[in-house]
Amino acid sequence: MLSVRDLHVRYGRSVAALHGVDLEVHDDSVLAVLGSNGAGKSTLLRTISGTLRMHRGTVTGGEVRYGDTRVDRLDPAAIVRLGVVGVPEGRQIFARMTVDENLRAGAIGARTGAQRSAARKRVHELFPVLAERARQRAGLLSGGEQQMLAIGRALMSTPRLLLLDEPSLGLAPKLVGQISDIIREIHEQGTAVVLVEQNATMALRVADHAVVFEVGRVALSGTTAELERSEDVQRLYLGGH
Ligand code: ATP
Repeated sequence: MLSVRDLHVRYGRSVAALHGVDLEVHDDSVLAVLGSNGAGKSTLLRTISGTLRMHRGTVTGGEVRYGDTRVDRLDPAAIVRLGVVGVPEGRQIFARMTVDENLRAGAIGARTGAQRSAARKRVHELFPVLAERARQRAGLLSGGEQQMLAIGRALMSTPRLLLLDEPSLGLAPKLVGQISDIIREIHEQGTAVVLVEQNATMALRVADHAVVFEVGRVALSGTTAELERSEDVQRLYLGGH
């Protein structure tokens, strides 16, 4: 289980991005994180994945634990080795490398060739297009395919908890549907997911629990069924009245 307790994060002196965030993600769960621009969703994922320092951010209070291990002081590679792997916003694939080289770069913690092959086989089953395009330069893929590659690369280290930052961003509705199906399948195969999304309709369809961030705090939390019934969520995120 991932648990975040009273987390405070700042960027430099002037920006307090998170002020006292509490949440939990159980091992068999998909948690959707909703909220408007600047509410702190990406900051949460950066803190969990250990990449916050690369963005000049600092944890100024509270803690993040994965199982018995405190992770908010670990570097990203150590966090990946614990089984917690992030797909950052904007994908950040290696455009000049081939699709297959990108996947191999993600195989952190795969000790043997057999482990790597098994991970690659699973990724190819989830995303057949990545097998078809294995030798193509990643930069030539479409936006949707690049998103698939970014998720596939993260899966190469067989995570127990996958952190996704806006996987639907910029994708056509049909591809959003495909990505949602794949997230559900990844979950059914035993990986927990934290899904940060602007697309609340999509996120609530995929997740079983959700939190709504407002200016660095959790304003609402519950099961997706509970949040779908909330008037605030309907009005602000689902286009209801
Ligand atoms: P979005 O959906 O727009 O990415 P978000 O909910 O993910 O929004 P964050 O990116 O976590 O929000 O930003 C939270 C706050 O921290 C915002 O006020 C933002 O301007 C600020 N912030 C984010 N990254 C940095 C940074 N590297 N340096 C300074 N301030 C930052």
